[in-house]
Amino acid sequence: MTDPITRRSVSRRLGGIAATVGFGSIKTRASSEDAKPAILGGQPTRPKGAGWTHWPIIGDNDAAMLTQVLKSGLWNRLSGPVTPKFEATWAERLGARHCLASANGTSALIISLAALDIGPGDEVIVPPYTFAATVNAVLLHHALPVFSDTDIDTFQMDVASAAKLVTDRTAALMPVHLGGSVADMDAVLALAKERKLRVIEDACQSPLAQWRGKHVSTLGDMGCFSFQASKNLNSGEGGAVLTNDKDLYEEARSFHNNGRAKPGSGVSGYGRNGANLRLTEFQSAILLAQMERLEKQSQTRESNAAYLTEQLKAIPGITPAKMYEGCTRNAYHLYMFRYDAAAFEGLPREAFQKALTAEGIPASSGYSPLNKEHFLQVVRTNKGFVRIYGEKHLNDWYEKNSQRPVNDKLCTEAVWFTQNMLLGPRSDMDQIAEAVRKIRRYAGALKQA
Ligand SMILES: *Cc1c(COP(=O)(O)O)cnc(C)c1O
Repeated sequence: MTDPITRRSVSRRLGGIAATVGFGSIKTRASSEDAKPAILGGQPTRPKGAGWTHWPIIGDNDAAMLTQVLKSGLWNRLSGPVTPKFEATWAERLGARHCLASANGTSALIISLAALDIGPGDEVIVPPYTFAATVNAVLLHHALPVFSDTDIDTFQMDVASAAKLVTDRTAALMPVHLGGSVADMDAVLALAKERKLRVIEDACQSPLAQWRGKHVSTLGDMGCFSFQASKNLNSGEGGAVLTNDKDLYEEARSFHNNGRAKPGSGVSGYGRNGANLRLTEFQSAILLAQMERLEKQSQTRESNAAYLTEQLKAIPGITPAKMYEGCTRNAYHLYMFRYDAAAFEGLPREAFQKALTAEGIPASSGYSPLNKEHFLQVVRTNKGFVRIYGEKHLNDWYEKNSQRPVNDKLCTEAVWFTQNMLLGPRSDMDQIAEAVRKIRRYAGALKQA
């Protein structure tokens, strides 16, 4: 490792020479200064204005398909042909029997729980390392989310910890395929079978990810996607429910259509409770257009991520998220790794992130512990929940959820890059790795700064 002080004095000396001998030496001076982190006055690894692949990517076909819907005047899925076409295309692409488009990923989860008749008195086991929507969907049905712990190596649900939480109230497991990777579905499905539980896959971050060659969302009873703006397949807002079970599909469809009776059910009018959680034809048009690029983009993310992992894992203190052996395809919605400050001379994660961002590499620290968020405290004292469960049970539930030590640790160590950063040329990956190495070389000086 180069001593930063020595480098600085060398570059000062060169600077002095440059002033007398001209342009060539100025370049030498600049490249020596370049070696310093941007935060310490060096050149950023990624020049200002280099930018990352802009998201979303908008193709000519998007506008054409959108205009077609606009001009048809058929803007609603109950009258237009585009949403059914998207559903058939997406189901076929994933190898699922049925697909129901929905207003967003949150509603896809709400619909799935409704179709499975999960409600007051039920518990659903969820991971704490996820977006709040996973948990909110359960709470909206007045069921109780119970948090597993997290597997530190993969960032996914720790299924062994979930197994210990199963009670006679447990109705379902809701693994999340986090960051584009895949939860341990062998363990999830084995536990579900043993304890007779339903499985809802929250695949919102993992379109086209696979477990042993099968697409996620088709492995459990139901699977959910989000097509929100940040997601790999995007229509601004949007979602979908996938299932191989015709009855579940029809329940889902009815629920998302204000409970209108299923065809052939013998009931006319409204057959069950429900809501309007339908996708519009505009969104479906954009999804069909974006889908034409999804496979190619996924391949780019995968090969860039694999290349980046090779470089990052060689840096002491950087541990890229591992995949389970059964994960045969990762959708890389996020590129996730753990940062060990001890290997960076004690430079705190936040300072590391700040230094990385100054190098032109935007980095996020990801989720904070969801099981400690205020909303659970609100549920604990909510009138409706108290009526259903009683104060004592809610207090126990709240306490039971509060200790998830591995997840807490992960939340202090994680660093994320967003999926669009994996869509550029391989040289982008070289720059990411170079910036991390540079920060490590200067970790001591950065800690002082
Ligand atoms: C995005 C996301 C959701 C919610 O999807 P929306 O379309 O934003 O409602 C749910 N779960 C996970 C894991 C997500 O990333």
